[in-house]
Amino acid sequence: MSSSQRSIAIVGAGIGGLACARILQLQNISVTVYEREPTVSSRQQGGSLDMHSDSGFKVLEMAQLVDEFKKVARYDDQNIKIVGIDGTVHFGDLERLEETAGERPEVDRVQLRQLFLDSLKPGTVKWNHGVSKVVQDGNNKATVHFLESTLEPAVHDFVVGADGTWSRVRPTVSSAVPEYSGVAYVDIFLRGVEKDHPNLAAFVKGGLVMVLGDNKGIIAQRNSNDVVRVYAAFRKPLAWFDEVGLKSLVEAERHTEARELLLKQFEGWCPEATGFLQLPCVSLDIRPLYTLNQHGWDTNPHITILGDAAHVPFSEGANTAMLDGAELATVIADSLSANADSWQKAIKGFEDQMQSRAWAEEEGGFSLNPFISEGDSAARAAAALRDLMAGALDGGA
Ligand SMILES: Cc1cc2nc3c(=O)[nH]c(=O)nc-3n(C[C@H](O)[C@H](O)[C@H](O)COP(=O)(O)OP(=O)(O)OC[C@H]3O[C@@H](n4cnc5c(N)ncnc54)[C@H](O)[C@@H]3O)c2cc1C
Repeated sequence: MSSSQRSIAIVGAGIGGLACARILQLQNISVTVYEREPTVSSRQQGGSLDMHSDSGFKVLEMAQLVDEFKKVARYDDQNIKIVGIDGTVHFGDLERLEETAGERPEVDRVQLRQLFLDSLKPGTVKWNHGVSKVVQDGNNKATVHFLESTLEPAVHDFVVGADGTWSRVRPTVSSAVPEYSGVAYVDIFLRGVEKDHPNLAAFVKGGLVMVLGDNKGIIAQRNSNDVVRVYAAFRKPLAWFDEVGLKSLVEAERHTEARELLLKQFEGWCPEATGFLQLPCVSLDIRPLYTLNQHGWDTNPHITILGDAAHVPFSEGANTAMLDGAELATVIADSLSANADSWQKAIKGFEDQMQSRAWAEEEGGFSLNPFISEGDSAARAAAALRDLMAGALDGGA
């Protein structure tokens, strides 16, 4: 078969998969995206993301979506404030990350995803197509099987697993299994903070405030349309959420009782931080954070993975997933007419680069997880961020 006829499928319409699909289509390469969710809005997409100039923003340029992005980007929300549990500000207000690391405009994840979706040819994304597994059946093809038994398996020449931490594609190429990181977030969606609670709006003004200490955190993040996402972070075994009754309250959507229980965990913390937990919320969910140990795999010429499916999720994971998707699309476009050997080499080159970038990021980037820890973790987090900024100033990032 001529390689220019390669049929390509992407599993997962997250940020990484959609970036890959968009850049393939810009090269006139046809692609199908299988997505488990029934519709674009059937699941909460989470909070705000900052676009980094060397990854997320670069991909927006490659995807020819900068003008559209600028219509929804928030350039005023780039500040980070780090506060101790007594209200002492350890970092922030006058220090702006952008001074050292370039501009990092914020955008709601749902808006960023929509921007990519709108840019794709109609019908590219097959909603309600949850994938159960991908099998390489020895005929130089990869067969995609669906969770819904009425859907016929689909045969493709190349399948990209962009289906997140619990990827159904990953097991075909790698035996790695995500592990609980020890930290879980209770994700609280608040509306109308600016309108009704000016003191709390002032606390989170500028973008992101992280109140840290005593193995816990309250992280508040401004989103567009007067939405604030609050993450109550805990370093606790997963069983703890069951034991204290939080899990059952969350599952039953008994938000008021869940918030009262949460407030008890933060007794004595500064009122700006606990104030967020006192407000009625739109939704409240527990989100355990998982990690994937650094892993590589033998290149399979018919199947690869990217984004959270391929490497540990970290604070810059959306930016990295976008870059993975864009780079893979470029490699595919450059290698379309390659023979089987050259194609395999090209895919291996992509995987090597993606893995080394992700591993370096894991070691050198700023991650909040280590600072959901004992003692005065706010002071330590502030020092780590200053070090990172100094490194950036020295040309390290
Ligand atoms: C609380 C929190 C805050 C974060 N903040 C930031 C931030 O500020 N900046 C940043 O860069 N990163 C951030 N991240 C990390 C970022 O969210 C992820 O790294 C990023 O979303 C990974 O993108 P992805 O496309 O690989 O996977 P995902 O975004 O997880 O997308 C996967 C897609 O695949 C679909 N899917 C899953 N299983 C199947 C299946 N079996 N069949 C078909 N479809 C399937 C899903 O429905 C989803 O649409 C944050 C993460 C968390 C938890």
